[in-house]
Amino acid sequence: MSITRTGIRSTTVALTTIALLASAASARDQRLTAREVIARIQQQVGVPWQSDTVDTFKAGNPDIPVTGIAVTMMATLDVLQRAAAAGDNLIITHEPTFFDHLDTADQLPEKDNDPVLTEKRQFIEKHGLVIWRFHDHWHARTPDGIETGMVHALGWEKFEDSTNQYLFNIPETSLEKLASEIKHKLGIHVVRVVGDPALHITRLAFAPGAAGFTNHAKALEMTGVQALVIGEAREWETVEYVADAASEGKQKSLIILGHIPSEQAGMEECTRWLKTFVTEVPIQFVPAREPFWSPNP
Ligand SMILES: [Zn+2]
Repeated sequence: MSITRTGIRSTTVALTTIALLASAASARDQRLTAREVIARIQQQVGVPWQSDTVDTFKAGNPDIPVTGIAVTMMATLDVLQRAAAAGDNLIITHEPTFFDHLDTADQLPEKDNDPVLTEKRQFIEKHGLVIWRFHDHWHARTPDGIETGMVHALGWEKFEDSTNQYLFNIPETSLEKLASEIKHKLGIHVVRVVGDPALHITRLAFAPGAAGFTNHAKALEMTGVQALVIGEAREWETVEYVADAASEGKQKSLIILGHIPSEQAGMEECTRWLKTFVTEVPIQFVPAREPFWSPNP
């Protein structure tokens, strides 16, 4: 061997440097893609993945490397702006982006020319955002991921009925006090209530989001349930039904929180869960703003 000790050492250093550069390059190439994040969610969610689901990519290129993940209740433009400003390019949203359940925008009469839709799509494209919806499977978990986060935010764990996670047995209060307590705990500006403010409440059902009239009626028909707390309902279905029940002197009432506040904490819960198995990129919860305000006084 004609190589001196010094020569061997410097060759070793050079080889080590090359190895380090090579591994840095491959780490760059191997940065987590949006598609890989979603595959990991599918493995971790704990329920079989359904083929008929709205939990799909809605915009952007799923194969781009993720710089940061924003988890939100609703991918409003305001949320997208805050996420992009923070350097996030993967948006995980519970509710639609393009104004209908299937994100087709088909209800817009001028779908290809609608000024609001066009500007939103342009923003998404300009900032290279990838949007993926996480709705069906987060609800399908046992317990329901949205309900879990909301119950935690309301501090209602101890009141949960042992046979039904949507029913709660609470210390006796009035409808007015219950609505006020929920409003303050969740920081909602506009809460609407149907029924007698003095109605005694000891048992309630909580159906976040827009569960639909049939589910609302099922909860209201249960013996002993005096209040149903919901995200939203058509005013000529659930709302009229409860107004009529109250007119008939039945012990029934309705508290309407608005869709976003009724599920928001469930996606905060999702953010905590996601951080337990996605550690390579920053993840933040971006709360969607409550859209309503009311004149005061
Ligand atoms: Zn939901």
